[in-house]
Parts: sequence; structure tokens; C-alpha cells
Amino acid sequence: MGKELAFFEGKIVPVGSAKVGIMTHALHYGTAVFEGIRGNWNPSKEKMYVFRLKEHYERLIKGCKILNMDINNSVEDLCNITIDLIKASEYKEDIYIRPLAYKSEEKVANLKLHELESNFALMIVPFGNYIDNDKPIRCQTSSWRRPHDSMMPTGVKLSGLYTTSILAKTEAIMAGFDEAILLNFDGSVSEGSGENLFMLRDGNLVTPSETENCLLGITRDCVFEIASNEFGIEIISRKIHRSEIYLADEVFLTGTAAHITSVGQLDNRNISSGNIGEFTKKIQDKYFKIVKGDDQKYIKWCTEISLV
Ligand code: PMP
Repeated sequence: MGKELAFFEGKIVPVGSAKVGIMTHALHYGTAVFEGIRGNWNPSKEKMYVFRLKEHYERLIKGCKILNMDINNSVEDLCNITIDLIKASEYKEDIYIRPLAYKSEEKVANLKLHELESNFALMIVPFGNYIDNDKPIRCQTSSWRRPHDSMMPTGVKLSGLYTTSILAKTEAIMAGFDEAILLNFDGSVSEGSGENLFMLRDGNLVTPSETENCLLGITRDCVFEIASNEFGIEIISRKIHRSEIYLADEVFLTGTAAHITSVGQLDNRNISSGNIGEFTKKIQDKYFKIVKGDDQKYIKWCTEISLV
């Protein structure tokens, strides 16, 4: 068991005392940017491997720029704050790390981004499986559409944008599915509620391109690199039609929380046999080794932390 701590207003405090006021701008208007980072505990090495820490903070800083937010910390500072909090928390199990940059000014009826105070907070929770990765999941095409980037910036993790993901995931779960797939307003495929989507069809590995309003996922980026390095596959980024998914040979979702998850069904139609695909299984096995620091070739993606 670790200690429940947070980094809040410049210092490490017990999570229970990290509180914001009811008038906080971000609470009313979703004016915040967050990240989701995994720390993977490797029991045989007795070390924590934080996955792609720097890249997560680079994305957070991009979100801050969009929200006119200056949190006065460089990517390097944020990485060091995170390492310090992980050491102080002493978790010896898989963890989820949640940085949050938010408009902290306690002012309502203030529809603007400029001239408002911002702050940065960080918390850690023990975290096992987000989705059961051992079996293919059942997905539903959501009745909610992924907003277009012209409605709200979609390439970074803006808090307000997650209302759509939450509506979609709730709808899917309440209808008995495991996850939602959101379409763009033009009906093309965008992504899952918290994952990017890949489809293998006729030997081509395809994912929605950057202009399809999906988050520019860090796991997505790993899949590009692993597919090319290990399997000699160059991924095609393009528009995907909903019915292409029905006819795909394999479909999988990628995300920090979800890792690489096989999709067995969409809208009650089996994808191929409905079982985990051969390629999905191979890339999943590789990815699980990499995130735990068990693959030297990709150790550059891991920040190794010893807990003494
Ligand atoms: N899309 C959305 C909407 C997400 O919330 C996430 C999770 N961060 C992803 C895709 C996957 O991104 P990443 O691989 O960086 O976790």
C-alpha cells in the first residue's frame, strides 16, 4: 500500500487536503487540460517504469498553450515533480498518474481565458486493468459524435471535451457493451471514448488520420513505431468508413489506460471470427513487455524509478 499524496499549489500534501474552492473557473467551464500516464511496477526488477513521461507533458503543454495557460513549469520540471511524487507515494504496484493544469481563479461569470490565474496539480492512484485485455471487447457505435476540431480543439486532452466521451461510454455500458466508438459528424470513424482505433484489412494497417478529430495518442505513436520496426508494416492514416470496421480482419484500440485491446464485435457483428487477431496478439505481447521495462530496445520510452 502506498501513501495517498498529491502535488498541489507547489508542494506535496496528503490528497485529502488538496481542495479547490467552489468558484474555481475550471470547475464551471471545463477550462483545464489533463494527462493520463501509467507507472508500471516490475516485480522482478523491483522498479517502477513510467511510460513516455516526457511525451505526456509535451502534450499537456500544448493543451496549456491552446487554453492560454502558463503554469510556469518546463517539461523537465514537470517530469521531476512527478518522479518526486512517485518516490514519496511509495506504491509498489501499477499506478495511474493524473496531471491537471487548470484555471484556478475563483471567479464565475467570466467567459474568457486571459487574465485568469492557472495552477498545476498532480495525483497518483493504484491502477490495474482499465479494460480486460485478455479477451476481445464488444463495442457499440455511439449516437454521440466526436466534436470537430473547429468546435473544440481535439488533439489534446481538454477537460471540457470529455463530456462527449463520458456520454458515449455511459450509453455503451448501459446498453451492455464494453466501449463506444465515436464517429465524426460526417459519419467517418474517429476513435473510442478514451482510445485510438486501428483496423487491419487486406494486409493494411489503417488508423484515422490526424484530421479525423481524434486525440493524438501516445500509444498510437508507439504502434506506428513498433509496427514499422518489428513487423515491417507502415500504417496508413486516412478516413475510415463505419462499415469497413464490420468487414475488417482485425480491429484494436490503443490508449494509456486501455493498452492495446482487441475489438471482437462492433454493433453485434463479429469482426472476422470475433476472436483476438493474430497481429493484435503479437503487438499486444510486445507492447506489454515494453511498458514494463522488459525490452531494452524500447527502454528509451521508460523512466525507471527505484523506490528505496
Ligand atoms: N483518445 C482519447 C479520447 C483519449 O482520452 C485517449 C487516452 N488518453 C486516447 C485516445 C489514447 O491516448 P494515449 O495513447 O495518449 O493515452
